Parts: sequence; C-alpha cells; structure tokens
Amino acid sequence: MSRSRIADPQDQNWTAPESGAVLLRPHHVLCAIGWTGRGYSPAFSANMDAVVVGRLRADPDTPVAFTENADSLCAPCPHRRGHGCASAEKIADLDRNHAAALGIEPGARMSWAEARARAMRLRPDDLDRICARCQWLEYGMCKDALRRLRQK
Ligand code: SF4
Repeated sequence: MSRSRIADPQDQNWTAPESGAVLLRPHHVLCAIGWTGRGYSPAFSANMDAVVVGRLRADPDTPVAFTENADSLCAPCPHRRGHGCASAEKIADLDRNHAAALGIEPGARMSWAEARARAMRLRPDDLDRICARCQWLEYGMCKDALRRLRQK
C-alpha cells in the first residue's frame, strides 16, 4: 500500500505517532465518505485527496485513531489554529453528534472499514440532525454519498 505524505504545515506529525494510523475527528468519518473534491483551499483539497482517496478509499484496512483535536484532514486547513479550530465550538458540537451516532469513544481505534460500516447504519436524513451546523450540508453531496454507500 502506498502512503501519500500528509501535509505538514508546522512540521508536526499528523498521523498517530506509534502506528501511522490516520487521525480523525469523529465527524470526519462522514466528511471523508462525502468527499468529492470541494474544499476550503487548494492545499486542503490536495491533502483530502491524499488521505481520503490515497489511503482510506484505497485500502479499507487502513487504521484510524480518533482524536478531539486537529487531525490528518485538518492539517493544512486555513481554519486550523494550532491543534484547534477557529470554529471550535461548532466543530466540537459536530464531533459530539457524530461520536454519539457512530458509537465512537474518545481515543478509539479501528479500521477504516469498521468506521465506514458504522456510518452505513445511519440514514442520509440523519445528517440533517448530526451535521446541522455544517456549511456543506445544503449542497447534498454527503447525503448522496451515504445513500450510494448504503446501496452497495
Ligand atoms: S455535512 Fe459537513 S459535517 Fe456532515 S458529513 Fe458533510 S462535510 Fe461532514
């Protein structure tokens, strides 16, 4: 399996150090499923492609480790502030909703296949509740991606 280098704007390690697992905030499971190439900046999108397409979708056995802080997808985000986020309160709310919906405990580890299987138990309309404050919800790509995944 090839591993694309993850953007590292502050020369920090944005994978779980001891295992090389992809670090994910809980709400990023469904964001990764819904990723269609539309991001906050070219660097953000390139990193999403490297992590989501190059690792998670390329190899469902890829290990993921959950964090309450900035993760492998946040690394080059223009809204990241250190290990936090400029929209910290909204993001924490999304994480709480998604962690509860997916049954993810703080510090949990699993394969991407397991995380994706948990997401597949949700109905697309559940995103109206758990993603309520996200600016991307209205575009519909995340619901569409979950709908396609559940039909496989
Ligand atoms: S609507 Fe927002 S939080 Fe929900 S899956 Fe899509 S990008 Fe992620």
